[in-house]
Amino acid sequence: MNNEIKIKDDQYIAHTYKRFPICIVAAKGCVLTDDEGKKYLDFTSGIGVNSLGHNDTAWKIAINNQLNQVVHTSNLYYTLPDIEVAKMLCEKSHMSKVFFANSGAEANEGAIKVARKYAHDKYGDEREEIITLVNSFHGRTITTLTATAQDVFHKNFGPFTQGFRYCEANNIASLKQAVNHNTMAVMLEMVQGEGGVIPLNQDFVDAVVEICQANDLLLIIDEVQTGIGRCGDFFAYMHYGIHPDIVSCAKGLGGGLPIGAVLMNDKTKDVLNYGDHGTTFGGNPLICAGASVVLKRIDDHLLSEVNRKAQIIRARLSQMPHIKQVNGLGLMMGIEFEEGIKAIDVLNNCMKQGVLFLTAKTNLRLLPPLVISDDEINHGMDVLEAVLNQI
Ligand SMILES: *Cc1c(COP(=O)(O)O)cnc(C)c1O
Repeated sequence: MNNEIKIKDDQYIAHTYKRFPICIVAAKGCVLTDDEGKKYLDFTSGIGVNSLGHNDTAWKIAINNQLNQVVHTSNLYYTLPDIEVAKMLCEKSHMSKVFFANSGAEANEGAIKVARKYAHDKYGDEREEIITLVNSFHGRTITTLTATAQDVFHKNFGPFTQGFRYCEANNIASLKQAVNHNTMAVMLEMVQGEGGVIPLNQDFVDAVVEICQANDLLLIIDEVQTGIGRCGDFFAYMHYGIHPDIVSCAKGLGGGLPIGAVLMNDKTKDVLNYGDHGTTFGGNPLICAGASVVLKRIDDHLLSEVNRKAQIIRARLSQMPHIKQVNGLGLMMGIEFEEGIKAIDVLNNCMKQGVLFLTAKTNLRLLPPLVISDDEINHGMDVLEAVLNQI
């Protein structure tokens, strides 16, 4: 990488991200190109965002067409693309209404506001707490940080928003202990992403649903990373056969542009009223024109392909040395290595060989574009296997 780039970035960009020494200047499909012309196969999707790969033709055409119509109007007026995206989101999820935000954290803020308003309308000041899971990740705003039950993210940023209580994932006793007369909702990821790609088990999820139903607690599912086909169903909660009251999504929805959405079911769809919530860019026509192409593409065929490709990857991983366990669902995977093998070393060696992976805690994390080809999968797995054989 040209060192000038690093020097300028260091000077002008706040140091919140420790970057790898690659500057990406172009991308097509599942291949990224750096400033020196080196190619990289992408198993990251920009952290679960580029679900259709990069530079998808239909997505680009839709955005280009919209660019020539209207880009932004504010939410004071009706526009067409946001209605289309909301309709498709509802039809694919059996939810009833959508509020558009601009990111995952904002979608979760919206979800939390819906839950709080529901509880206020129905129970006054009686219910003030939302239960979230230890090791969860819900975003970086102060409130979603509070929902995020990981000490590492809390250091230096207090005081925090009130009204959250934590319980352990996959621990029904801990869940029962956390619920009390003050509880209004339970909020969780079906597969904890940033927490290390840890799926919830069915028994725990069933227990959550039972407790929610018995006590009129809202069930909020954070599908920011798991949603929009990533885990082999349109939303990961569908794999568990449950029906949440509120769903947040973001990353994969825009196919590369920033968007977030809060989905509400019949119980919660009319909780927010005129003036209760808002955001200037929410439902932006340009971004929704792109999201619309993404949603049309996530059909039953694509979902079965996601599951088939996940099987190919798992079969390849099962033949590799040093792997203790493979976690996750669909094309969201975490690889746990044997003692002594560091995921970051594996990542760096693969990067040198032109294949990009992510980490999540001590795991190597795979979030390839949903459209990755069998050949690309096999090439990525060949490189990973060679790296593991040499490490
Ligand atoms: C990434 C992520 C978020 C935060 O999304 P941003 O768009 O970065 O604000 C929230 N929840 C989960 C599960 C995520 O993976």
